[in-house]
Amino acid sequence: MSDPTASQGTQGPTGGGGMGGMMPPPRENMDYICADCGAKNEIKPREPIRCRECGHRIMYKKRTKRMVQFEAR
Ligand SMILES: [Zn+2]
Repeated sequence: MSDPTASQGTQGPTGGGGMGGMMPPPRENMDYICADCGAKNEIKPREPIRCRECGHRIMYKKRTKRMVQFEAR
């Protein structure tokens, strides 16, 4: 068997944005409108929804031109 400690890339359980081969496709940020101050926020899919202006956590999803697919499994 080969030595597992060899430089074979990072193979950990916490792949926080690693550059491995199992990286999901990059998604565009979603535009959200703050329900409190109405500021537009670009929230990434992996980021918590919170207004950057006032810190409000309730945001409305802005209508995007792209078609969103939600297929039930
Ligand atoms: Zn706000």
